[in-house]
Amino acid sequence: MATELNRRGHLHRRHHYLLALLFVFLWVVVVGFTSFSFVRERSYKVQYINNSLQQLNRTIARDYRSGGVPDDIFAENTTYYPSLRLTLLTTDGEVIYDSHPRAGHTNHAERPEIVAAMADGDGYTVRRMSESTAEEYFYSAHCDETLVVRTALPYTAYLQRSLRLNHSFVWYVLAVTLLISALGVVAYRRIRRDEAEIELQHERALFEQSEKIRIKRQLTNNINHELKTPLCAVKVCLETLINNPEMDPQHRKEFLEKSFSHTERLNKLLQDVSTITRMDEAPEMIPLSPLSLRAVIEEVVDDLPQSDDRMPLRIHTDLPEGDQLMMEGNGEALKSLFRNLIDNAMAYSGGRDIYIMVVAPATQSADRAYMVRFEDNGIGVDPDHLGAIFDRFYRVDSGRSRRMGGTGLGLSIVRNAVVLHGGEIVASNRAEGGLRFDFTLQVAQSFAQANMQ
Ligand code: ADP
Repeated sequence: MATELNRRGHLHRRHHYLLALLFVFLWVVVVGFTSFSFVRERSYKVQYINNSLQQLNRTIARDYRSGGVPDDIFAENTTYYPSLRLTLLTTDGEVIYDSHPRAGHTNHAERPEIVAAMADGDGYTVRRMSESTAEEYFYSAHCDETLVVRTALPYTAYLQRSLRLNHSFVWYVLAVTLLISALGVVAYRRIRRDEAEIELQHERALFEQSEKIRIKRQLTNNINHELKTPLCAVKVCLETLINNPEMDPQHRKEFLEKSFSHTERLNKLLQDVSTITRMDEAPEMIPLSPLSLRAVIEEVVDDLPQSDDRMPLRIHTDLPEGDQLMMEGNGEALKSLFRNLIDNAMAYSGGRDIYIMVVAPATQSADRAYMVRFEDNGIGVDPDHLGAIFDRFYRVDSGRSRRMGGTGLGLSIVRNAVVLHGGEIVASNRAEGGLRFDFTLQVAQSFAQANMQ
């Protein structure tokens, strides 16, 4: 059991690790993908601005080469770009013209966008503080054989906004990922719950199995014990007869009758044990077929001797009029049920009347069952013993039970027969004296319709 618990604990931990790993993987993928999309989006926007400025650079270079005055060229382009800054440079980085009034004319050969333009023809810097004007700009520079044209846009709130990334996308991805994670947790919890349920069922099955083994062992011990008494008695009788060949016929007859009654008891015990074992071990092997509960009860009652030596009995039946009380059951098991109850009432109750009442189910629900009440008007059973009378070999008064030929298995057989028919049984003492059994017997689906009509 301990190793089984360890194994399960280990399995649970492994499941937790797997789930955690899955989540880490999911979040790494999502964060990676989002970052990648961000970089691409930003790069696209930067390229877009740069391309526009580079186009402008080329136009300005052409205009300048065809004799245009820088101030005029600059003035023309401010229509589209009001805050544009234009710088014209030689290919050595010397400033020829700068539209910014405060700009100095230091050599710009070291400015990153100029370095890039000189190397590749085009270059840009997204955000750089101008050394000349102390303002931040987005620079784009174009360099040909004789001239470097650099245009710049101030890095204002507007440009900043243009380059800002689309955050709604992040929120969307985040929300979807959170939703997936939450669904994952819910699904995992549900799986764990189902697993726990299966484990519980498994444990229950194990417990039932071990209980069965325990009960079987107990039954075997009890049977041994129960068999010993009549066997010993028969042995003693036979020994006495063998050792006393001269015994007078009257005593001989008594010993033989004693032996016979003990063998009868043995026979009854073996029969009861066989019945109970069959019901316990292989209830599915007990055939169920359509039968009339009314016929079963009437047959058991009719088979009883009209007047018993020990106690003349009156049996009162109260069955629904004109109803055959059809059900799917096992005739022998049901007869044994009623016979045992009647035998007990005759043996122990001390009363004179037995009442058998059957109530047919009123509805056509799936769990339809006949409700049966069996009562006697005898002494009942001490409440301290009431809960145990269905146990195997349980007797309230062992001596009396044995004298009456009881095996201690009668009520166990009764309970097993009820369970075999999908029912439950309870015993209680009647307020007016006597014992009462209330039990149910399931009606099979196929007969319900016919019975209801
Ligand atoms: P047994 O073989 O001894 O009859 P049962 O399982 O049939 O075993 O009954 C268990 C005990 O319940 C009996 O020993 C008896 O003391 C008590 N008992 C059963 N039925 C009645 C009854 N109708 N009235 C009083 N006592 C009863």
